[in-house]
Amino acid sequence: MRPDFLPFALPDIGEEEIEEVCDALRSGWVTTGPKTKKFEEEFASYLGSGVEAIAVNSATAGLHLALEAIGIRPGDEVITTTLTFTATAEVIRYLGAHPVLVDIDPHSLNIDVEAIRRVITPRTRAIMPVHYAGLACDMDQVIAIAEEYGLRIVEDAAHAFPTRYKGRLIGTLETDVTIFSFYANKTMTTGEGGMIVARDPALIKRMKVMRLHGISRDAFDRFTSRTPAWYYEVIAPGFKYNLTDIASALGIHQLRKIDRFLERRRELAYRYSERLATLPLVLPATGSEVAGDNHSWHLYVVRLGSGVTIGRDRVIEELSKRGIGTSVHYIPLHRQPYWRDTYNLSEANYPIAEEAYQTMISLPLYTKMSNVDQERVIAALKDILS
Ligand SMILES: *Cc1c(COP(=O)(O)O)cnc(C)c1O
Repeated sequence: MRPDFLPFALPDIGEEEIEEVCDALRSGWVTTGPKTKKFEEEFASYLGSGVEAIAVNSATAGLHLALEAIGIRPGDEVITTTLTFTATAEVIRYLGAHPVLVDIDPHSLNIDVEAIRRVITPRTRAIMPVHYAGLACDMDQVIAIAEEYGLRIVEDAAHAFPTRYKGRLIGTLETDVTIFSFYANKTMTTGEGGMIVARDPALIKRMKVMRLHGISRDAFDRFTSRTPAWYYEVIAPGFKYNLTDIASALGIHQLRKIDRFLERRRELAYRYSERLATLPLVLPATGSEVAGDNHSWHLYVVRLGSGVTIGRDRVIEELSKRGIGTSVHYIPLHRQPYWRDTYNLSEANYPIAEEAYQTMISLPLYTKMSNVDQERVIAALKDILS
């Protein structure tokens, strides 16, 4: 790799994070403990609105716990978007249920809410909206559909910290559970990790128990004064999804920087939109700032305009030749062998996602990127597309 190669994403980890991780290591408490408790409390308090936060070792784990807690069972159907990472759908299969993949809205690239209505059956139990790239789905509509048909909502908010929908932070809406990801390339990172956010005490209790082997703290706590420290009760075959204090040490400081991170991401995104406006590109939707929408700018996804003769793959290749990293979010799930073959999915049923997939490129966007780095990307695109 050339020394001036510009990656498409990079974490932004400072001395504060490193110090806190060392503190965890020196303390002798490396698994879930005081730093995780603090991270959960501070994360919940950032969101406000009385939500509780449960730290997990990945968003995938969090999505699995959420679906388990709302009672998804074998044969159930859960509706989600085809334009997402496979994790969104795989957790549905973990429980023996079936993902029902629908097409997207051409403007936002989020799930098409009218398409949700068309695939509801008596076996439908839940909707999993994904706030693609960090722009909120049309949640008023999603919530209205869920109410009308008696469905649960689990939000895949892996891209959406912090995202606002009509002035309210994702994680605080009237849905059952919301899950954020702290994977290395997300808006904040703990290396690997995720956060579940919910309000319903019964769901919270179930997810906490299932996060750690189905061990019930209540059964344990009931007798704390009399029961010996070694005693515990297993009430279900749970999972091993807890977050370590080493990871939470990172999270505590990443969270404190999140507003600054967002400001920088937004600055870069707006500059892209301003400087790329004259090119034959479809630029990302921002949501309505008047209505109080706020994009997290996890990803900056452009699409080649209809007049562009050079293909998407060639553009990626040309950018790469110029030392610029990009990515594609995502190869739609209906194209992936497992999902395509298991559910007999055809590209013809996903015209919008197909069109988006064929033309999309995720440009470099991360807080440590300099303005000069960004000018390189802009100049390269101008060179390639003119
Ligand atoms: C990253 C991501 C996940 C999974 O997050 P992990 O923390 O890596 O498990 C799930 N859904 C979407 C849309 C993602 O981008």
